[in-house]
Amino acid sequence: MNIKKKMIYNRIILKISGEFLQGNNASGIDNKLLNYIIQEINTIFSLGVEIGIVIGGGNLFRGRYFNSNENLKRILGDQIGMLSTIINGLVLHHSLNFLLVKTYLMSAFSIKGICNEYNIFKAINLIKKNIIIFSGGIGNPLFTTDTAACLRGIELGANAILKATKVNGVYSKDPINHLNAKFYDILDYDQVISKKLKIMDNTAFVLARDHNIPIHIFNINKPGSLYRILTGENEGTIIKNS
Ligand code: UDP
Repeated sequence: MNIKKKMIYNRIILKISGEFLQGNNASGIDNKLLNYIIQEINTIFSLGVEIGIVIGGGNLFRGRYFNSNENLKRILGDQIGMLSTIINGLVLHHSLNFLLVKTYLMSAFSIKGICNEYNIFKAINLIKKNIIIFSGGIGNPLFTTDTAACLRGIELGANAILKATKVNGVYSKDPINHLNAKFYDILDYDQVISKKLKIMDNTAFVLARDHNIPIHIFNINKPGSLYRILTGENEGTIIKNS
């Protein structure tokens, strides 16, 4: 008998980094990974979960590549970084549409003829029937798409932020170099900040903490991991207020 499992969240923000899309390539997008992730997303979308995706751009450009004492260079780098997230957004949008998954692409700033500007009221209406991809970060330099994920999550009243990574969750140390690294099933935001666990930038964490929105860190490379989080199974690390 096929028992339909209940989803623990109705609306989520899924953060996908550029690094994930890159896979083992030196930069750009690995098509196999792209196809894999859209299937994982489609599985939970077809079960009725409302999904906003915040897309990163690190596979193409990061503002800090231009870091120097010259502030403008960094700002310019961040502008290029934000444009990179729109490039990834366009690819993801096209790939999901190809699968006939209803998807809408928004950006923190519009590029006429290519990408519509983010509008919270439109997003709240659209997310009931479409996956929405949020690109362009928050639209300002010196921020990250992790902060954008927390911000959009709060604005849209999402139940949780799901950060897709290549590792199983949060460890006390880098598990590849330290065999005695401890895995955390659960943490609170202040522990993450005080232990200096580098998972997201502090701006993102403080936003999530102050608005009481849980963050799941999980390994998207494990097939079904996204589904297992949504059905309340033990998967990855959850960060929330204690
Ligand atoms: N960025 C920015 N403001 C934002 C979001 C991103 O300036 O609100 C720039 C920044 O330069 C960053 C790049 O866009 O390095 C790519 O974003 P991010 O590093 O968050 O991508 P990810 O690591 O998730 O691939």
